[in-house]
Amino acid sequence: MDDSYDLIIVGGGPAGATTALYAARRGLKALLLDKARFPRDKICGDALSGKSVSILHELDLLEGVRQLPGALVRAVTFGNPAGAEVRIELSRHDHRDLLTGKVLPMEGFVIRRQVFDRFLFEEARPRATRCLEGFVVKDLLSEGGRICGVRGQDREGVEREFRAPLVLGCDGFNSIVARKTRLYEHDPRHWVVALRCYYENVSDLKDQIELHFVDEVLPGYFWVFPLENGTANVGIGMLHEGLKERGVDLRQALQAVISRPPFARRFAQARPLEEPAGWNLPVASKQRRIHGEGFMLLGDAAGLIDPFTGEGIGNALYSARLAVETAAAALKAGDTSAAFLRRYEERLWEALGAELRISTRLQQLGRYRPLLNMVIRKAARDPQLADLICGMIANAFPKKALTNPLFYLKLLFR
Ligand SMILES: Cc1cc2nc3c(=O)[nH]c(=O)nc-3n(C[C@H](O)[C@H](O)[C@H](O)COP(=O)(O)OP(=O)(O)OC[C@H]3O[C@@H](n4cnc5c(N)ncnc54)[C@H](O)[C@@H]3O)c2cc1C
Repeated sequence: MDDSYDLIIVGGGPAGATTALYAARRGLKALLLDKARFPRDKICGDALSGKSVSILHELDLLEGVRQLPGALVRAVTFGNPAGAEVRIELSRHDHRDLLTGKVLPMEGFVIRRQVFDRFLFEEARPRATRCLEGFVVKDLLSEGGRICGVRGQDREGVEREFRAPLVLGCDGFNSIVARKTRLYEHDPRHWVVALRCYYENVSDLKDQIELHFVDEVLPGYFWVFPLENGTANVGIGMLHEGLKERGVDLRQALQAVISRPPFARRFAQARPLEEPAGWNLPVASKQRRIHGEGFMLLGDAAGLIDPFTGEGIGNALYSARLAVETAAAALKAGDTSAAFLRRYEERLWEALGAELRISTRLQQLGRYRPLLNMVIRKAARDPQLADLICGMIANAFPKKALTNPLFYLKLLFR
């Protein structure tokens, strides 16, 4: 077996599998490693929207994804703490993807990660030069201060080393690559904690994802996302800082929300299919350093989750596209120094920065209960405003207005 690679991808979730797919398109020799064996679960809301759809389309995988068990999403419903709801029809505008430049119908999917990640990994496996499941990366190799490989244990328990000019950390929130390069940081102000629980028999599930800003976890939210055969992905999440300050127990909060109006009616016949399970979301309300000598961090390892919506898959796929672009250029130039790889971080923030800054502001505004109540109540009664919000989600209209105080002042008098 030829053990020479251009890059080593640590982690085969959405970021890692997509990296392998883009690397193959550029003719790069990639070693793809994951400690798990697929299919494996990942605690998530399971929703795929605009950016993910655009990247899947670019990789010719959208039709394959459409065939997977799950639900098609045609609308987003927002609920305010007072219980008012607005349904935003996604078909009102096409999604303009800011990275790929594609304009596609705005639709989304909810697909269990056990299914979606396996699909993506199976697509990546034959395209990677070599792929090892059940391989736990335990340490990084370095030479002269530059990362040049990984050391870990294969599924037979044998210690092994692999070398390459580039190591790409796609290994999730607890990234070993981030830890070993001292870039890992758990900052409760930029960290969300969330619980997921699959249910059956939740009533009134529709072709929509529902985000309800509930008092129990403000500025976080409670979600109900439809899945196949009348099942649903139900969950609740909150900024870690707020969780600690208010002493919130997420399990109790979830139970409290589904036991009270307006949700109690919908959960009267519902049955949980598992114990609620928690996970961490490093959110991009701050720009972290995500590159160094011989390595780059992607997806959750880079802390790229949207601070307002909690979506991280689309940004993970964006990071894969941009990291491979930089990797190809670095390898061609024979320069995998931090100075060269900085362009990955710069391009990523060029592509995502404006949106992430707006999401950070929205997350902060979400603390103000009266504001949330007003915006959602007004949008529920005003189709033009609902249409405007849809246009902003679709990038058809600038989202910036949402962070302008004048926007809210105007709303008051609408
Ligand atoms: C409760 C919750 C709800 C969410 N809802 C949504 C949603 O609805 N939509 C959305 O877009 N995003 C959502 N997110 C965020 C989303 O789940 C993540 O952003 C996404 O999984 C990031 O993908 P990734 O590939 O970077 O990391 P991961 O999906 O975590 O994949 C990392 C991979 O690395 C492997 N790995 C880890 N350590 C090692 C090691 N040492 N050696 C080898 N392999 C290793 C793991 O086995 C895993 O396969 C949610 C997150 C949570 C917690």
